[in-house]
Amino acid sequence: MALDPKKHEMPAQDPQVRAHNFDEVALGYTEEMAVSEAQRCLNCKNKPCVSGCPVNVNIPDFIMKIKEKDYEGAYQIINKTSSLPAVCGRVCPQETQCEAKCTMGVKFEPVGIGRLERYVADWHNENAKEKAQAPESNGHKVAIVGSGPSGLTCAGDLAKKGYKVSVFEALHTAGGVLVYGIPEFRLPKAIVAREVEGLKDLGVDVETNVIIGKTLTVDELFDMGYEAVFIGSGAGLPSFMNIPGESLKGVYSANEYLTRSNLMKAFRDDPRTPIMKGGKVAVVGGGNVAMDAARTALRLGAEHVYIVYRRSMEELPARAEEVEHAKEEGIDFRLLNNPVEILGYNNPDDPRDPKNGFVTGIRCIRMELGEPDASGRRRPVPIEGSEFELDVDAVIMAIGTSPNPLIKNTTAGLEVNRRGGIVVNEDGLTSREAVYAGGDAVTGAATVISAMGAGKLAAASIDKYLSSK
Ligand SMILES: Cc1cc2nc3c(=O)[nH]c(=O)nc-3n(C[C@H](O)[C@H](O)[C@H](O)COP(=O)(O)OP(=O)(O)OC[C@H]3O[C@@H](n4cnc5c(N)ncnc54)[C@H](O)[C@@H]3O)c2cc1C
Repeated sequence: MALDPKKHEMPAQDPQVRAHNFDEVALGYTEEMAVSEAQRCLNCKNKPCVSGCPVNVNIPDFIMKIKEKDYEGAYQIINKTSSLPAVCGRVCPQETQCEAKCTMGVKFEPVGIGRLERYVADWHNENAKEKAQAPESNGHKVAIVGSGPSGLTCAGDLAKKGYKVSVFEALHTAGGVLVYGIPEFRLPKAIVAREVEGLKDLGVDVETNVIIGKTLTVDELFDMGYEAVFIGSGAGLPSFMNIPGESLKGVYSANEYLTRSNLMKAFRDDPRTPIMKGGKVAVVGGGNVAMDAARTALRLGAEHVYIVYRRSMEELPARAEEVEHAKEEGIDFRLLNNPVEILGYNNPDDPRDPKNGFVTGIRCIRMELGEPDASGRRRPVPIEGSEFELDVDAVIMAIGTSPNPLIKNTTAGLEVNRRGGIVVNEDGLTSREAVYAGGDAVTGAATVISAMGAGKLAAASIDKYLSSK
């Protein structure tokens, strides 16, 4: 049988319809599509796709199981190395990881590994009825700070080994960026809630509304009897451009904007938190966060949404699928443009004019690409005299985040680098004994799968450390 050179398309909601609702955009393969896509896998000897996966999922083996229609078998293979397959199948940047190494991809389109992973995980979630059982306790207690993918993975791996694990989360819902950052239309929150419930079945305590560094310190966790601590507190501190106008009303960090919408449901008719709906919106940045903010703004009723990005489409760091979806939904990409000022309304004749202090526009300058910079990407250089203005009512800054210094400032002897990332050794151990760290708190903003990998590594190291004590 001749191999199909193209990946099976993923069914998706119609762009005109989905731009006005928060339901999941990509609808997932049918069984027929999944089996047919699995048949495109060459099951090659050297398995390059496995080395492209940061947690080394045995990809060809799980795909073989799909060919045999043994979906639970496929799930069990993925689950050996990845604890969040329904999440990773939806949000991993496969095009730069496993699929980038797929042998099929040399001549044709690579196998749709992410789509197959999603199929298997969704099949398992629908069909597997058995609840996880808490294993016998080994008597050791471990505290996890933060409930993002790194913390959840570390908690799950340790709980399976009999550790008594408590997760301390600052927000009122567990899941980290998976619940407060990535919108429902990309990652339904029920999937994350299910993962958290699975951890609770394993005996993990999840304590929300606890800020380590304020409610309790790392040292107090040790006083409470925890013998090791894993810090997976992410990189939630937003960056701004330091240009004039950033304190105007209607300027948001993407984190604030997305948290209001995702976690506090500002899109509802009876929201618990205010958010600007409608009008024209400019989102500054070109990563996944920028795409999510732009597409959320559209769904909240914006009449026009711009992405303002200082490099070209080639350098845009967001996942290819998200960029494609954003374009289909009508997001207006203003590439090689950089904001220099946010403009606001000011009526000096009437200081009580309610429009005073609100955003009215954004002044940008056109850019061209020069020589590559330290990141290897061509440096954007402003073109003199090319400034222009866009009329907008809100500006969302999605230009990056860094780790919050709170834990570092309240934990003596915890070394961080100049970007605020916690310094760890190859085992995930920090400069403090029995304190481990991983995920964005160490690397700065990265990916779900790399955070999970760090959580796994730390769990293995903590197990080694505590079992030798
Ligand atoms: C909008 C958005 C979209 C993204 N899209 C993608 C994508 O498509 N694909 C992808 O691979 N990656 C994506 N990422 C990146 C990815 O989500 C992160 O790399 C990943 O979530 C990092 O996991 P983590 O466990 O290190 O931290 P986080 O997910 O940030 O979780 C950290 C948790 O710690 C909590 N916390 C922080 N400080 C404290 C404290 N002092 N005490 C207690 N709790 C604390 C936080 O509230 C949070 O819940 C996206 C990120 C954002 C913001």
